[in-house]
Amino acid sequence: MSHTSHIAVIGTGPAGLSAAEALSSRGYAVSVFDQMPSAGRKFLLAGRSGLNLTHNEPLEKFLDRYGAQRDWLEFAIRAYPPEALRSWAEGLGQACLTGTSGRVFPTVMKASPLLRAWLARLRAKGVLFEMQHRWIGWDEDDLLVFETPQGPKHIKAAATILALGGASWARMGSDGRWTKTLPESEVAPFKPSNCGFRTDLGQEFQERHQGDVLHSVNAAFEGAQARGDITITHEGIEGGPIYTLSPPLRDAVLKDGEACVTLDLRPALSEGELTERIAKIRPRESLSNKLRKIGLSAVARAVLHGSLPTVQKPENLAHAIKNVHLRLIGIETVERAISSAGGLRRSALDDCFMLRSRPGVFAAGEMLDWEAPTGGYLLQACFATGVAAALGVESWLTRNAT
Ligand SMILES: Cc1cc2nc3c(=O)[nH]c(=O)nc-3n(C[C@H](O)[C@H](O)[C@H](O)COP(=O)(O)OP(=O)(O)OC[C@H]3O[C@@H](n4cnc5c(N)ncnc54)[C@H](O)[C@@H]3O)c2cc1C
Repeated sequence: MSHTSHIAVIGTGPAGLSAAEALSSRGYAVSVFDQMPSAGRKFLLAGRSGLNLTHNEPLEKFLDRYGAQRDWLEFAIRAYPPEALRSWAEGLGQACLTGTSGRVFPTVMKASPLLRAWLARLRAKGVLFEMQHRWIGWDEDDLLVFETPQGPKHIKAAATILALGGASWARMGSDGRWTKTLPESEVAPFKPSNCGFRTDLGQEFQERHQGDVLHSVNAAFEGAQARGDITITHEGIEGGPIYTLSPPLRDAVLKDGEACVTLDLRPALSEGELTERIAKIRPRESLSNKLRKIGLSAVARAVLHGSLPTVQKPENLAHAIKNVHLRLIGIETVERAISSAGGLRRSALDDCFMLRSRPGVFAAGEMLDWEAPTGGYLLQACFATGVAAALGVESWLTRNAT
């Protein structure tokens, strides 16, 4: 069935494009706008590190990754679950694989072929793309106003979906400037999420070890823990386990100025097993050799340095190796974070993601105030809320036509 209503989708990230696809499949005339010269720039950037589309784990566990916002996103994700996202990618000719950790990637491990095929399919369905159109709000007649290279444009839409992204990596287009367009009370300030932290390990350590990786370590903070690789950066640390723990670590650093994360440098061995291994090494070996012989890399030995016990009995060393206390004294800026927390508050939207203050205007994706760890949970929620907002548009238009 085709409709005469013209729908505007603003933002060509995964949330906007999935909304556009759902609407055009239902016969709506859709125009997609973006301030950048080309579509899906952050999606392409995400593809540079493998494009982790979603995660193959039981749905209950999957939904728990959204923490306090689980019940907000749940209906959208149940309606568009991980299998739907995977078959969508496969429908665009991109076979997917599930890694050992359960993460789902396109086998080519990048986003460009997927985005190319997606844009071609959208164009074939009649979706119009208007690039270099920066949305700046509404005029007195409620028309959408865009800044374009040709000057301001005013556009009428029967319904609008805002999919403007969060505030990390502003140069990809998601600059968060849209927050100025909406009432302040409806928007929670942006904070970095899935971000790195500054440590107190000192400039000399950072410079010497920048780029080095602590492989397969366990990080713990306030009862939560995550395992994986941690990379030393110019000023601190970053990587999977730190990203996973980033919401509570960030909130602690914001509140107290610091947070202490505990690292287990040999999580595959229990403290008893590690003690036994150390005890078997000849006592006359230097400490450095002992640590090397139990598999600690140069960077792991350097991180351990500040936590070494004064009496270096095997059990003391084993305990220290499994309990390195690392002080985090600053947070990476939102600009460099993988994602952002904050954005349009849940209270500003109804159950269909429509703005309570602006009937007919919906929102989707990372611009909504939720956060989740990396692992495919970000993209999954962007796609799912894009589709949910599109369905919201359809039911709102249907209700208003009668
Ligand atoms: C380095 C990196 C790696 C990542 N890897 C992964 C990963 O592997 N898996 C995963 O799940 N997630 C990953 N992410 C996160 C993921 O890319 C984002 O969560 C996702 O792109 C957000 O989608 P979105 O559609 O909500 O917004 P975006 O993709 O940010 O798109 C928003 C769009 O809105 C446009 N826009 C903004 N304001 C305006 C305006 N005023 N007028 C017009 N247009 C505007 C922007 O130009 C942009 O194109 C990664 C992110 C980064 C930075």
